[in-house]
Amino acid sequence: MDVRSDEARVRGGWGCTVAEPWGNLPRTGMRRVLLVDDSPVLRSAVAQSLEDAGWSVSLASDAEEGLISALSAPPDAVVTDLWMPGLSGLQLCQLLRGEPATAHIPVLLCTGSADRRSRFWAQRSGATAFLDRSDPVRLLRELDRLVPPGRAASPASGLPVDPALRRSSIPGRLSMLLDHALFEAVVVGELRSLAFDAADIEGLFQAFSRLLTDIVAYSWLAFSVPRRGGVRVFVHQHPRHGGRAVPGAVQSVVSPVDGPVELRVVSDALVADEPPEGAVTALPVLLRGRLLGRVAMCASRASAGRDEAAVITLAARELALPLHAVGLLEETRRLASTDALTELANRRAASLCLDQLARRDAPPGTLSIALIDVDFFKSINDTYGHASGDRVLCHVAEVLRAVARGNDLTARWGGEEFLLVLDGTSAATARVVAERVRGSIARTPCRLESGRSVPITVSIGVATFNGKGLDAFIDSADRALYRAKSRGRNRVEVADEVTPS
Ligand code: GH3
Ligand code: MG
Ligand code: MG
Repeated sequence: MDVRSDEARVRGGWGCTVAEPWGNLPRTGMRRVLLVDDSPVLRSAVAQSLEDAGWSVSLASDAEEGLISALSAPPDAVVTDLWMPGLSGLQLCQLLRGEPATAHIPVLLCTGSADRRSRFWAQRSGATAFLDRSDPVRLLRELDRLVPPGRAASPASGLPVDPALRRSSIPGRLSMLLDHALFEAVVVGELRSLAFDAADIEGLFQAFSRLLTDIVAYSWLAFSVPRRGGVRVFVHQHPRHGGRAVPGAVQSVVSPVDGPVELRVVSDALVADEPPEGAVTALPVLLRGRLLGRVAMCASRASAGRDEAAVITLAARELALPLHAVGLLEETRRLASTDALTELANRRAASLCLDQLARRDAPPGTLSIALIDVDFFKSINDTYGHASGDRVLCHVAEVLRAVARGNDLTARWGGEEFLLVLDGTSAATARVVAERVRGSIARTPCRLESGRSVPITVSIGVATFNGKGLDAFIDSADRALYRAKSRGRNRVEVADEVTPS
């Protein structure tokens, strides 16, 4: 099997773990291959054809012997049987990949049964090729491709074998290797599953930091994601660190071009209770080369730092998927509740908000709304064109945003109608706010693209919730608005207020 696609390389597939070891090494001498097979007949047949093709062949009759031989004198390539008593060719491949001295050596797995599962697992175990053992010509061609003639890499003399490496210690090494791979796979699985559980970016950060505190001891963890015109930063730290850790944490995940920072600091005792002075690892979170955010961690001083760096590197890589998924979820939610022209809340979002507020057990007379309608808007459209009409709507939205307090909801209710939701506001105060809106719009003409200034006025109907249903509430604001129109426009009327006509 010869899969050399870029995708396979990216996934860590066939051939990707094979570095070019030939670099500066002398290119003289025969190419050396290690042949591992438990069948003496097959071993000598294959060895013969390899020798005939100019290879120097070392032989091993099982995987343990093969590993010891490869470590003591790393060959240019390893050809191994897939199934052997004791360790399999796959396990030999994993062991060779796990040792720095042999990690780069191409491993060709040969078998009589090419079942899909073995082929798949061979690829994931780092095998370079998976070949049918009944096709020696193919084997020689593959070897020539992987180690071209004249490119023998290995030194003639072998490296000293690790004295700790004896036949009996190999299963222990393998199980350590597999345990490490399993640990990584579990961490990757848990990181990816964050995509399913988090409802928003803040929830994702909380779940992410909870998972990381289970694995490593850090002084602080920081996480940044771009947001329109700026950047959101989350920092997780021990309460004892107070504000000391925050500037360094923010700096490690923010670049000078990011714009304004919206900061959220989460403090809890899960974080190491140590001054934040350990090594800092800061990494980008990338999805197909696109920057989704940044993550940084300050290892606790008590920890060695190497494992921590490996975990945060893995986490930064695997965070891309959940971050992308949760980002899409947030964006979808935002689009579903935002008016595309003015970027105020849309009618759906305003209705949902009103519905929630009206369901609370709040005392009557504390929830007010102002329904705002642009006067003679049709004639603005007719005179200056629809695009100018749109510009006027954005202008009104801008004024509304400026007048509203943080707690108020501003929405585009429809066409040229806007809604201001004033929670915790009596009718009398709502009238004052509505007057402020009316006055502000009347005082600030809208500048059209042509440079021309167009005076705008609005009429406003104010109503206060009396517990008698949402429809009746909105209806009373509508009737007050109608009254404001009929009484001359550019004015505020309050529902149920007895005023002389
Ligand atoms: P009044 O003072 O009685 O409110 O009169 P009006 O002209 O403002 O009200 P009318 O209901 O007669 O006209 C509203 C116009 O708003 C009609 C519609 O074409 C226009 N309109 C609705 N949505 C938009 C929009 O998104 N952009 C623009 N440019 N015009 C819109
Ligand atoms: Mg109007
Ligand atoms: Mg209208």
